[in-house]
Amino acid sequence: MTGYKIGVAGFSHETITFWPGLTTLKDFEMNAYHGEKVIEKAKGTNSCIGGFIEVCEREKVELLPVCVASGGATETVADEVYAFYVGEMRRGFDEMKGEIDGVLLSLHGAMATESRQDPETDAVREVREVVGYDIPLMVTFDLHANKDGAILKEATAVFGYQSSPHVDMRNTGIRAANAMMRTLRGEIKPTTALKKPGIVVPSVFSATTVSPAKDIIDRVHWWEGKPGVVDVSALFGFAWSDVSPLGMGMVAVTDDDPKLAQEIVADLCELAWSKRRELTGRSDAVLHGVKEGVRLAIEKTRKAEKPIVILDHADRSNDTTYVLRELMSQDAQKTAFPMLYDPEAAKKIVEAGVGEIVDLEVGATTGWRDGGKVRVKGEVLWSGHGKYMGTGPMSVNREVDLGPTGILQVGGVWLQVISRQSSLLDEDPIKQFGYTPEDFDIIVSKSKTHFRAVYEVIGEEIIIIDAPGQCPADLGVLQYRNVKEGVYPITLND
Ligand SMILES: [Zn+2]
Repeated sequence: MTGYKIGVAGFSHETITFWPGLTTLKDFEMNAYHGEKVIEKAKGTNSCIGGFIEVCEREKVELLPVCVASGGATETVADEVYAFYVGEMRRGFDEMKGEIDGVLLSLHGAMATESRQDPETDAVREVREVVGYDIPLMVTFDLHANKDGAILKEATAVFGYQSSPHVDMRNTGIRAANAMMRTLRGEIKPTTALKKPGIVVPSVFSATTVSPAKDIIDRVHWWEGKPGVVDVSALFGFAWSDVSPLGMGMVAVTDDDPKLAQEIVADLCELAWSKRRELTGRSDAVLHGVKEGVRLAIEKTRKAEKPIVILDHADRSNDTTYVLRELMSQDAQKTAFPMLYDPEAAKKIVEAGVGEIVDLEVGATTGWRDGGKVRVKGEVLWSGHGKYMGTGPMSVNREVDLGPTGILQVGGVWLQVISRQSSLLDEDPIKQFGYTPEDFDIIVSKSKTHFRAVYEVIGEEIIIIDAPGQCPADLGVLQYRNVKEGVYPITLND
């Protein structure tokens, strides 16, 4: 037993500030755990806290959990949510004060509240007010974090996911916890740098299996192999959060070598800047309009041996109807449309039951850039409570609860309607309901990059449609007010 004790907490949200309305405490509490439950729920999962637990068990370190809460990727977070969880962290860490040797925090990095543009840095500052600056405090961030140098005044070091799809969340927790252990044992003295290249990347271009995001991550790993380097991250930012730290941020953690840290982040910024047009979708024709994209997908199915995947990347509420309407209008066949969010419609389908014909309106529940309701008529293929244990690379060992769920056959479209927000991360939404991806010629995904871990393999080709939606690749349609000067392509263009 080393005798070390480490406090742990998590607080995550990816905020679309343009989306009218607020994400409330109730929304967070649906995915929140407190005290020992944190460990019970996160153990063995692909999550940062899952990674923390793994290292601490191996090192025989005691983890003292406060809380973990996630509100998903939705509207601006209500101030009461920040006050609630950060208040809980303050109280929890205050009780541990003097007893703990370090703090591990799992944050997202793209949260915005009613009154805070950088709530994570504020939260870490509040934790520091309680535990002081004498113990190491490591923070993990999502790859889509909007962060600037202010965070490094509060955190000893920060660690971002290096993959989108986020198949490495657990590994990011392991990286942070390992650095914590090495710091506690006096093996390293972390020195850090964060530099922003001034680029805002729509998430669809942050897929790290595809260039140029892949080239940036390759460079991150190349740097990690150099002597004196502890860890390197490229935070790609989250484009639809109108906050002052918006955009990419390169992070380096070195061993007592601030100059090397500066050199690494400057190099990564230069590389990103040279690829700015590709990173913002300005250089090629990878994006298709709705009508043309659907037509192309149908045409491609004639020669394809595996399903064609349509990516409707702009949909953040999992309920926009632009692509569904077009698939119906072009009479697409053998088409899977998994995970359309509409609790009211799902309830009606479940009430009708399997084998019945239903005629109802679906989708478009937000009333904001959602495409409007679509009327569908079809036979109920499946109905009930959609709940299972995840098997895919991102959701492994995690309970997925879709609430009341119904599957309809609408012409050639297999339409799955769900009651709790979720998107297509793996084969589970199809397989757990008795079907396989191979049953279909076209599969529609509203997951931005995560689906790629599985669907790049089982799909023939991915066709990206830039439907109007809440988070379009064309950022010019949104009115940014808080973004600094010189940020490409919002306040700077070429
Ligand atoms: Zn992300």
